[in-house]
Amino acid sequence: MRLKKNAQLFFFTSFVILFGSQANVLAQLPNGWKAHDKNRPQPKVISPGEQANQAPSDAIVLLASEKLTGWSNAKGNPTKWKYSDGVLESVKNAGSIYTVEKFGDCQLHVEFATPTRPKGKGQARGNSGVFFFDADYEIQVLDNYENETYADGTVGGLYGQHAPLVNACRGPGQWQTYDIIFRKPRFNEDGTLKTPARITAMLNGVLVQDAAELYGPTIWLQAGEYKKKSGEGRISLQDHGNPVRYRNIWVRRLAESTPTPPTPRPQMELTATQRKNYVGQFGPVKIEETDGKLFFTRHPRRTFLLQVHSLTEMSFEKTAGELSFKLDDQGEAISCQGSIDATGNFKGARKNTQPANQSDD
Ligand code: MG
Repeated sequence: MRLKKNAQLFFFTSFVILFGSQANVLAQLPNGWKAHDKNRPQPKVISPGEQANQAPSDAIVLLASEKLTGWSNAKGNPTKWKYSDGVLESVKNAGSIYTVEKFGDCQLHVEFATPTRPKGKGQARGNSGVFFFDADYEIQVLDNYENETYADGTVGGLYGQHAPLVNACRGPGQWQTYDIIFRKPRFNEDGTLKTPARITAMLNGVLVQDAAELYGPTIWLQAGEYKKKSGEGRISLQDHGNPVRYRNIWVRRLAESTPTPPTPRPQMELTATQRKNYVGQFGPVKIEETDGKLFFTRHPRRTFLLQVHSLTEMSFEKTAGELSFKLDDQGEAISCQGSIDATGNFKGARKNTQPANQSDD
């Protein structure tokens, strides 16, 4: 009957789509882990600040004490910048100010205010800057409130390279926040660039740089080029001749690497006869064979390709899921138990040996 044939075609097509898509979607995770692996190391627990601008427990607070400590001029000598009540102010001709400590990959929180009485135009109004890696890379600090300049020199810009996505500048004298993620450049042994420096930044809570890749150091009127540099570098604030103020600066070091994933378990191939030994319903779960492979289904829309590690042990290819079988003397599975992290443990005796796609008729 046509209706029945259409229904058969529907089931067959659904089956192919389901398996085809699973084979693609559930491919081995590029990071080497299976999804939802319970053995994956837990993220370190930290205490965030009570508000988003407050330093979390793992931050290094760079402006806090009554006295200005942890900062110097470029040569490592005391700075002439003003410091009072936790507020640091740029002093003309004092030169930029540098952290004593060095940082590589980091998350930096900075609050700044351009002069209350705006003076000058374009780059001459409330100019300063936050620099990373020993002054190689500047994210601009400028009073761009109703003050236009070249786009890549606007506040939130990576100077001379990337304009900010938007101009989110507050008015003169108002405190503004920067939250910046800096990834230092990496180099190959021969000195060639492996990965460029990268900056993501929020200005006043607004995304202004989205993992922007730097072309080299940011330099006025120059296209900076990468030169091999290892280790870490100081963070600095620019003296550009305008009395820009800073407060509440803290930084978090970011891990350079993530936990190493486990070595994939050895797999074995089953013969066609052996595969038949596992096909069937085991309690709430079903094992089916298609194209010479075994698939596991619990929920109708979740099908997993199985990796065979031994005649009694299998696992899901891409997500955390373990199966162990009891076999009879003929090598036929008589029961299966296991765990799927998303839906829990299961256990069941084998109830039938017919592939599900045939029983759907
Ligand atoms: Mg500047």
